[in-house]
Amino acid sequence: MKERCGIITSDGNFIEIKNISASNYEFLMDPEELYRYANKINAIVHTHIRGCYPSRKDLEYMKLWKNVIWLIVSEDCIKGYKISLDGSVFEVDVNSFLSEKLYNLIMKLLK
Ligand SMILES: [Zn+2]
Repeated sequence: MKERCGIITSDGNFIEIKNISASNYEFLMDPEELYRYANKINAIVHTHIRGCYPSRKDLEYMKLWKNVIWLIVSEDCIKGYKISLDGSVFEVDVNSFLSEKLYNLIMKLLK
């Protein structure tokens, strides 16, 4: 199963974005779709088959998205991360920004 991905916008919606990566173990958001929301991205969401730790690729991409929450969801967990200006990654409390509506929408990615 391919990873699925999307964004949480600053007005509190979840939008799934097409994953154009050929690999099953990473994601690459369709830039054309993503561009439409460029100025209102609060969080980037993607699924993992197992576990919620950022992959090496994830950590690389996170550096391009400072101030954006990186949300990883799989069957066994849901976790948020952010990267600080000095490049260190820290966990963000998912409950602090995830409404029940968003949570339910994001969980549908695993179906
Ligand atoms: Zn990942």
